[in-house]
Amino acid sequence: MAVLEKGNITIHTENIFPIIKKSLYTDHEIFLRELISNAVDAIAKRKMASLAGEGSGEVPEGKITITVDKDKKTLSVSDNGIGMTADEVKKYINQVAFSSAEEFIQKYEKSGQDLIGHFGLGFYSAFMVAKLVEIDTLSCQEGASGIHWSCDGSPGFELSDSERPEVGTTITLTLLEEEKEYLESARIKNLVKTYSDFMPVAIEFENSVINKQRALWKESPQNLTKEDYLELYRYLYPFQEDPLLWVHLNTDYPFLLNGILYFPKLKPDVDVNKGQIKLFCNQVFVSDHCEEVIPEFLMPLRGMIDSTDIPLNVSRSALTNHRTVRRISDYITKKVADRLKSLYNEERKEYIRCWEDVGTFVKFGALKDEKFKKQVEDLILYRTTYQSTPSTQDTPKVQVESKEGDVWEDVKTEDNGKPYTSLKEYLDRNKESHENRVFYCTNQDTQGTYVQLYQNQGLEVLFMDSFIDTNYFIPFLEREYKDIKFSRVDSELDKTLVEEDKAGEIVDPNTNKSRNQEIKELFEKALNKPKVNIRTQAIKSEDSQATPPAMVLLPEAMRRMQEMTAMIQQQTMAFPEEHILAINTAHPLIENIYQMSKGSIIQGSGESPAAALAKSACQHVYDLALVAQRAFDAEGMKGFVQRSNQLLTQLTK
Ligand code: ADP
Repeated sequence: MAVLEKGNITIHTENIFPIIKKSLYTDHEIFLRELISNAVDAIAKRKMASLAGEGSGEVPEGKITITVDKDKKTLSVSDNGIGMTADEVKKYINQVAFSSAEEFIQKYEKSGQDLIGHFGLGFYSAFMVAKLVEIDTLSCQEGASGIHWSCDGSPGFELSDSERPEVGTTITLTLLEEEKEYLESARIKNLVKTYSDFMPVAIEFENSVINKQRALWKESPQNLTKEDYLELYRYLYPFQEDPLLWVHLNTDYPFLLNGILYFPKLKPDVDVNKGQIKLFCNQVFVSDHCEEVIPEFLMPLRGMIDSTDIPLNVSRSALTNHRTVRRISDYITKKVADRLKSLYNEERKEYIRCWEDVGTFVKFGALKDEKFKKQVEDLILYRTTYQSTPSTQDTPKVQVESKEGDVWEDVKTEDNGKPYTSLKEYLDRNKESHENRVFYCTNQDTQGTYVQLYQNQGLEVLFMDSFIDTNYFIPFLEREYKDIKFSRVDSELDKTLVEEDKAGEIVDPNTNKSRNQEIKELFEKALNKPKVNIRTQAIKSEDSQATPPAMVLLPEAMRRMQEMTAMIQQQTMAFPEEHILAINTAHPLIENIYQMSKGSIIQGSGESPAAALAKSACQHVYDLALVAQRAFDAEGMKGFVQRSNQLLTQLTK
């Protein structure tokens, strides 16, 4: 092996190696990513050269091979790419070291620790883990001869002839004692999987290809099938439910951006602050953190974005304010909104099927991002009690359109046929009867009685039952649509639900009291709960037995205040002691109790058995109203059960 030339790498290399080693201490592993990326480039360059009529011979299928020699403590990365001539080694390896290292130092000093791991050190990153780096290369140029370059981390390099027969390059690292982990098979496989999985060239290790290669997001969406997208998702997020839908980002102007964003089925325990989107640069994995590039409300999405226009060598705060990054972020928001819009317009059933999962996310986005809100405000749906066609058991409901506005029914949900509406349609449909009020229910279990009451009187109720609805979205909608009021079904009894009855007329000329007043006092005495505000109202109904004898009401403003306080204190809201008990004076039970108590007064002084029974009945009516709201505490439950037993005993005597 004849030595062709000996010399020094020209510049301040004495200072460079220690810096490389020291500063990148936590991120040594990226050296493999850099060597593989260089090899991929070399393979692409060979193809390009061949197309341009340069280079000799057939271009073989590109391939990278990683080999380990545990005895010699070497790790090699070999490619069949373009190779280098002696001049090129001198120019690119010896001299580029100068410029890129210089640049590295400058950039490093400016942006501090933040850039570590984001900074492509290229070939020289090998010195983080190796005490000796060797290049063995043969250029594809006609008549080129093999070259061997070696450098032991001191500024000295050595260039010599090589017997290498095949075109391409092998970089061999003799690892430092403390970096022996990179001889371990599992470690190498893991590194390739993490950083270089989607490199478009086969990477062979221990006689098998260990990278996936196909980067779907770089392909044209027209050529891809649903299965292609699902396959990639399942590969990246194994053991997860399939995504609901996805958006393929694909643009080259005014910036380069490719990516696929998947909407996962959101679980209640998903931490929306933890990003799940991977950042790539030319198919090389860069980071799991995209917080600066992806708007916050899109963080629950999964998938990847790939762009060479996202600067990787600046600090995080600089990245957030970077113009292109901001434009990319806006672009992504718009694309996501477009995708939702097209699904809404073109595949309504599919949109509704996804809505229960996507809804929270869309609402969150509308709250957080003005532009997004404008794009999606007409796409926000609410489940409603509205029935546009009478439903029968055997005809599954399908998309129906009615004059009053469209209501869509999901034929796929388990309980078959949940109708949905938009707010605008709800308001249009109910203009006259609702007077710009939106009746809503947050929990069908506890507010079912109330919903039924509204429904019986032909009032439409919306189900707004996710945490985002109560705490954020309703107040937001009220700010947005100033003249609209949201009223939970149990906050008051709308005047449509109550009847003017004769109960207001004076029934006792001696006391000058009306029936209503007497009933109110009867309950006040029996319950003896000063914080419960008793009110009498006759609930409208064709069948008075079908309505409840009494209902507990929580005025909207008061309840919201309490909910807000509970949320701030991170507690679940206890049922408020202060509430309204609306006695339904049209109910026969109330009439019976009233008559019973009246009779007991006439009969004599002291508490007669009838008076005691009337009192128990009042308490029971109140308890039943609480039961409907599931608002029993332990003590309340005990009393209720005891009294139930007593009443039953009396009834069966
Ligand atoms: P960069 O890849 O950013 O240009 P590097 O320091 O990683 O910087 O590499 C410097 C140059 O060395 C490359 O631009 C390329 O010309 C050459 N080079 C590095 N690795 C290879 C390789 N495996 N095959 C051919 N040329 C290579």
